[in-house]
Amino acid sequence: MSEALWIKDPLAILADGAEGGLVVKDGQIVELVGKGEKPKTDAKPFEAGEHVVLPGLINTHHHFYQTLTRALPAALDRELFPWLKALYPVWAKLTPEALDAAVTVAMAELMLSGCTTTTDHHYVYPKGLEDGVDIEVAAAKRLGLRVLLTRGSMNLSERDGGLPPDSVVQDEDTILADSERVVSRFHERGEAAMVQVALAPCSPFSVTTSLMRATADLAAKLGVRLHTHLAETQDENAFCQELYGCRPLDYLEDCGWLNDRVWLAHGIHFSAEEMPRLAKGGVSISHCACSNQVLASGGCPVCDLEATGVAVGIGVDGSASNDGSNLMQEVRAAFLVQRARYGVAKVSHKDALRWATRGSAACVGRPELGEIAAGKRADLALFKLDELRFSGHGDPIAALVLCGAHRADRVMVDGRWTVEDGAIPGLDLDALMRRHQSAARRLQG
Ligand SMILES: [Zn+2]
Repeated sequence: MSEALWIKDPLAILADGAEGGLVVKDGQIVELVGKGEKPKTDAKPFEAGEHVVLPGLINTHHHFYQTLTRALPAALDRELFPWLKALYPVWAKLTPEALDAAVTVAMAELMLSGCTTTTDHHYVYPKGLEDGVDIEVAAAKRLGLRVLLTRGSMNLSERDGGLPPDSVVQDEDTILADSERVVSRFHERGEAAMVQVALAPCSPFSVTTSLMRATADLAAKLGVRLHTHLAETQDENAFCQELYGCRPLDYLEDCGWLNDRVWLAHGIHFSAEEMPRLAKGGVSISHCACSNQVLASGGCPVCDLEATGVAVGIGVDGSASNDGSNLMQEVRAAFLVQRARYGVAKVSHKDALRWATRGSAACVGRPELGEIAAGKRADLALFKLDELRFSGHGDPIAALVLCGAHRADRVMVDGRWTVEDGAIPGLDLDALMRRHQSAARRLQG
């Protein structure tokens, strides 16, 4: 049993009835403290008078390896399909050392922006990178970040009418065998789980129907979640129409994917008729506001999805389309793009924060995360308002979103501090950046 900690009298907190803070014990929030009150639990105080306390932010879509190809000249100013075609040959040169550097950079960037749980969608497996998930698990454990890593896959290459080249795809048997291996080796169950694994064929245009179906069956058998990209672009609609004679959602349903294990990245091009089918199935959506704008893919109808009963979370998406992994900035981007779409009455800063916390918790299937309440896991992001950008603020929580907070002062995951004074203890960022930049140069050269 660890000593209880009282996050005492915060400047502001995103929770009801917690003006006096909260108490953390054994990785869990055990008590909220009302205004002017003291905790019932015997707890050591942490003075939070300068901190705005949020539930830890949850990132529901990313491709860590893409931090190695940010702002790549060959991929600039292209839409999704030509953008991917420009990048696949570069990604085909990915090595275990480069992936380790990329994963560490992405995780560090996320953590410093207030992230406590992240997913990653790793689907590129050139020869020599068969242990991609193993590398990611090791990095997450080193840094103390909670993760839902997905065993991604591609098996439909150019030769068979798909988009990626042969050098980055694997065959179905190899993919399914490794999926089973990484789930049995790494997937933890229960509310305190720090490492979980989901299965994630990449997209309709890079995976065969047979693999889509087999992956859904395997996920049901193993009791894990399922993820893929869907309804991202009009090109994808046209591809599905041509190859499968239907729209992407019809195809997904035909593959056995309309169920509550599933969360989908993007979810832009759904019709009004399709949204209730998502809701009925219990499918949730990862909204990737920056990526959608950079690639001009379109805009996710977040409020329409939510009104239909579909949970929506936030994802930074791969760093080659965003090109950053800052989750707090992604909250602001989602707020801006959805505010512009729906107007002031429908979208507030609190909605954007809700998407990145409770909405994202639904995407990753972890109702014990994403909220500051007794009984939830102690995942917290604490921001200070001592930067120039906040000077003159009124509402401290609104200031985080509206003034553009980008760096947390402290982050806690399962009761342990993972960020202190704006830094990750034990991580030499300069050395990491040198290692990462030289890996990127080798890949791009
Ligand atoms: Zn993506």
